[in-house]
This record gives sequence, structure tokens and C-alpha cells, in this order.
Amino acid sequence: MREGLLEIFQETYRALRPASSIPELKIEFFAFANVNNTIRLRNGRLLVRLSDLLEGAPDAVLRAIAHILLAKIYRLPIDRGQAARYRKYVASHEIVRKTHLVRQMRGRKRLLSARGHFYDLEAIFEELNTRFFHGLMARPRLSWSPTKTRRILGHYDPAHNAIIISRIFDHPAMPRYVLEYVLYHEMLHLKHPVRMRGSRRCVHSAEFQEEEKRFPRVAEAEGFLKRL
Ligand SMILES: [Zn+2]
Repeated sequence: MREGLLEIFQETYRALRPASSIPELKIEFFAFANVNNTIRLRNGRLLVRLSDLLEGAPDAVLRAIAHILLAKIYRLPIDRGQAARYRKYVASHEIVRKTHLVRQMRGRKRLLSARGHFYDLEAIFEELNTRFFHGLMARPRLSWSPTKTRRILGHYDPAHNAIIISRIFDHPAMPRYVLEYVLYHEMLHLKHPVRMRGSRRCVHSAEFQEEEKRFPRVAEAEGFLKRL
């Protein structure tokens, strides 16, 4: 674990709940498909999972996310400054990370293909298109990522109308429904473009999330992705 992270959470806890003793804390970094941070209270123990996107974040950003998560679980008001600090970091870094992948893809001399060794993205796209979108979705460029990245499982690049899926899914041991779920998520990005809500980018809107739940075995797929 990153040095000082536990202390950051403990100090934040003390500031938020000065009268209560600090529970045992377990903090892990996770390669979520998207920026995601979770907190749970189990048997008096706090379990925190942070997106690996925050692994290299400055202390101030980690303090912000500690504040947000702890305030959330204890139903305390979230400080606006902390919320803004966190959002700003994530917005800029998510873009950097995705830009890197797209650049990597374009920098390749050979043309990347939708056809992998085991799975054909175009065939799966058309199947999902029929199952969930009445076959109405225009097919974007589809490509496997050049490397087996775990950092980005899938990405929709609106500028180039392309969906890129990590090559780790092109494997015989990979259940098809997991790949379908990742591609389905990116297809929803095509259907629900990023909106601005005030100064905030709304990437996974309520409608997006509602529609994502229509995928059968969504919990199972999420569980599989978390263990990747
Ligand atoms: Zn997404």
C-alpha cells in the first residue's frame, strides 16, 4: 500500500468524527474499468477500494477522496472544496490515460483489427446491437488494444468514433458474457454522450446506469472484472 495512505484516512476520520474511535481500516487499490472508489463497513471494519488511477495522486487528492468516502458512509456533509479537488484531478487524469491508449493505438503501423484470436468484436457488436438496441446502432470502428492492458478495459473515443477493447479479453479462458458486458458498456457511451451538468462532466448518467443494469448477469460480470 502507498505510504501515508492509512494515516491520511485516519486523520480525515478524526477530523470528521472527533468523538469516535477510529475503526480498523483496510485500503486497497483496484483496477476498476472506470474511475470508481468504494467504501463499506463490515463488522466494525472499514473496507476501502480506490481506483488505481489514484495510485500516483498527490496527498491533497487522496485527502479529498478520504473525506468524500468517509463523509458518505457516515452521512456527513461533503465539503465542496474537497469534492471539486477530487473531480478536477480525475477529469484531467482520466483524459490523459485514455489519450495515451488512443495514441498508442494510432501510433501502430499495422492496422488494428476487430478480429482477435478467439473473439470477433464486430460479430459480438452486431449481436449486442440486435439484443439491446434493436439493431439500430451504427457500427463504430472496433479494435482490440495493441497490448494486454488491465488499466483500461474498454474505451469509446468519440473523436474517432472508435471502441477499443483490451486484448486481455481475447482469450479462450475469458467468458464471452464478460467481454459482451465490457463492449455493451462502451456501446452505451455511444448512445449516451458525455453531458455537462453545470461545470461537471456527467459520464455515466442515471439513464446510462439504468440501461447498463439491463445486461443479464451484470453482477457476475462485475465480480469477474474485479478479480482480473
Ligand atoms: Zn464508462
